[in-house]
Amino acid sequence: MPDCVIAVDVGGTVMKGAVVGRDGIATASLRRATDRERGQRAVVDRIIGLAQDLAAQVGDGRLVAGAVAVPGTVDEAAGIARGAANLGWRDVPIAGLISQRLGVPFALGHDVRAGALAEGQLGSGRGSDDFLFVTIGTGVGGAIVAGGRVLAGAHSRAGEIGHLVVRPDGRECACGKRGCLETIASAPALIRRYREITGDADSITAELVLERVRDGEDAAARVWTEAVEALADALAAFVTMFDPELVILGGGLGSVGPPLLDPLRTALTMRVRTASMPSLVTAAFGDAAGRVGAALLAWRLAGVT
Ligand SMILES: [Zn+2]
Repeated sequence: MPDCVIAVDVGGTVMKGAVVGRDGIATASLRRATDRERGQRAVVDRIIGLAQDLAAQVGDGRLVAGAVAVPGTVDEAAGIARGAANLGWRDVPIAGLISQRLGVPFALGHDVRAGALAEGQLGSGRGSDDFLFVTIGTGVGGAIVAGGRVLAGAHSRAGEIGHLVVRPDGRECACGKRGCLETIASAPALIRRYREITGDADSITAELVLERVRDGEDAAARVWTEAVEALADALAAFVTMFDPELVILGGGLGSVGPPLLDPLRTALTMRVRTASMPSLVTAAFGDAAGRVGAALLAWRLAGVT
């Protein structure tokens, strides 16, 4: 068996892990509920358990390193997850904890920045040194790639486009502010708004809202347009500041392609008059970008790039 690494991406609801070879191909993969309701300790134990179960599938001495990508404020250099509201975390030295258990070096990455690394090296951003990577799903995340580098910022918090205020009189956000992009354009926000307009109490999902947009339903179209315009407002600010070549849309809801890209292109074009319009493209790895990026971080840690 050739050398391999373990790559894990931890989300608010699901954690995904894989054993990955030098060719980037996953030879084994596991997917488990994050179970964040049970608290920080339980989530950490589940991540370690997932990594151990993956390691058990690797032959003796073949596992050379690993990496875990998590959301929130992530200090990659120190290997510490400083805080993640959706995981209930504070200052968790997660990379060191897994490393101790597995006996191989482990890196820590930020989920969206790791995704941007994957898209830049292997996906839709290949060949581009300047792009924005935006993920839309349970939340709205962002990463800025400028001059070929993924920017973490001075406090590991760069790129938080989901908490850019686009409607100052809007709904209160989990972060305490009002009218953040995430309160309008995330999957839960779409569902909430659709229910508000229609009074529909049935089990509705963001995918179903989108399906009704395609069917020409007025309420669904209104909710989708509100989300697209809010996204265009936030992106216009980023485009004006960073002059990217591309905007890569990823995450579960962000990867839907033309139903998002087409209206967003029109809305953004109207808003970037003093800047150049970037190309809008769909992420190559969909919601697997964080996991693919974690594998790249692991290989980097092992001295293979
Ligand atoms: Zn917010």
